[in-house]
Amino acid sequence: MVTVSEASSVIFENLFVPAAEKVGLQQATGRVLAESIRADRDFPPFNRVSMDGIAIQHSEWARGRRTFIIEGIQAAGEAQKVLQDPANCIEVMTGAVLPAACDTVVRHEDVQINGREVTIAADVSQGQSIHIKGMDAKKDQAILDPGQILAPSEIALLASVGKAEVSVSAFPRIAIVSSGDELVDVGENPKPWQVRRSNSYALQSAIHESGGNAVCFHLFDERASMEKELAAIVHDYDVLILSGGVSKGKFDFVPQVLEAIGIRKLFHEVSQRPGKPFWFGRSASGKIAFALPGNPVSTFMCFYRYVKPWLLKSMGATPPSASAVLAKDFTFSPPLTYFLQVTVSNEGGRLMATPVPGGGSGDFANLKNVNGFLELPLEKTEFHAGEVFSYTPFRH
Ligand code: AMP
Ligand code: MG
Repeated sequence: MVTVSEASSVIFENLFVPAAEKVGLQQATGRVLAESIRADRDFPPFNRVSMDGIAIQHSEWARGRRTFIIEGIQAAGEAQKVLQDPANCIEVMTGAVLPAACDTVVRHEDVQINGREVTIAADVSQGQSIHIKGMDAKKDQAILDPGQILAPSEIALLASVGKAEVSVSAFPRIAIVSSGDELVDVGENPKPWQVRRSNSYALQSAIHESGGNAVCFHLFDERASMEKELAAIVHDYDVLILSGGVSKGKFDFVPQVLEAIGIRKLFHEVSQRPGKPFWFGRSASGKIAFALPGNPVSTFMCFYRYVKPWLLKSMGATPPSASAVLAKDFTFSPPLTYFLQVTVSNEGGRLMATPVPGGGSGDFANLKNVNGFLELPLEKTEFHAGEVFSYTPFRH
């Protein structure tokens, strides 16, 4: 048996090495950048007017001039104009190039326009309302590093440097493998002693949510057929996420079958609840198997606590870490890390986690009221309101 932090370390020491693939900018949201992105020119590429108003030479204003004659207009999208006479000004629009021989912009709100004459009715400092060329980034400067998860803000940056296609980490080929003779598929009518399998769908949905894809398989609790089928699956996929068949039951063949097909055990059993029978291993060729306990909450928690961060880290990104404040006293005596189901709310900037009692690891209906799991360490048994613990969210 290993602890939660030992299990995490072993998992993070056994990352998948992804290939890179090119995707169009419109498909890149949520993906992990696999190349370094440089500014293709200065950011902004010219002295950019940042307010609608007039452009002047500041020295004229300093000399006492308050009224300027409009000499012309510099609109956004026009090549740079030149101010001919310092006693004049040029009307400018946000996004326009600052006209040559001007060094200051006075916004519309601070001037009075009377025909062709503009009178400045405010204090003016030199260089105001100009977004200076190269101020945000210089040409060739790195603006995004590999490992960056691409959010809409980064999509904007990529667009602005002309990256219609971008190199991102490819997802591993993931197989989700459920097992159990009592399980039937969603479209079937279960006999009184059967249940529909839900874990495969939960896992597949969670992987979709992370931007990846996975194919589902189902195996029966029969050693020989399980070995044959798993051998074929491991041949075709990089990562196996199994659920069920890893406990101490007579028909829990998954650990021995995984070893038999060349996946070496790196740990079996984690001192945690739920999810104690969790098994993890790797083959000589680098195939990874997460064999999660089949109880729906165990499978679910283990995916978000272990598999998802592993996926992100494998792709080169830094998995986010979160913490939350326990809102109510809680007691848990067994020497296990307890993943408490909580609902969270933001109170004065603090994330408060309130326990949501449920029917244990089989009660996945309870999850609909839950935002995530608060990680109560195994060293303690009494957990007090106000204490801060690691938090694994699965919804926001
Ligand atoms: P196991 O880990 O195989 O001992 O299964 C533990 C419990 O989880 C049993 O009640 C199973 O019926 C249930 N279970 C296992 N796999 C699934 C699944 N894919 N979907 C729903 N329930 C499952
Ligand atoms: Mg089973």
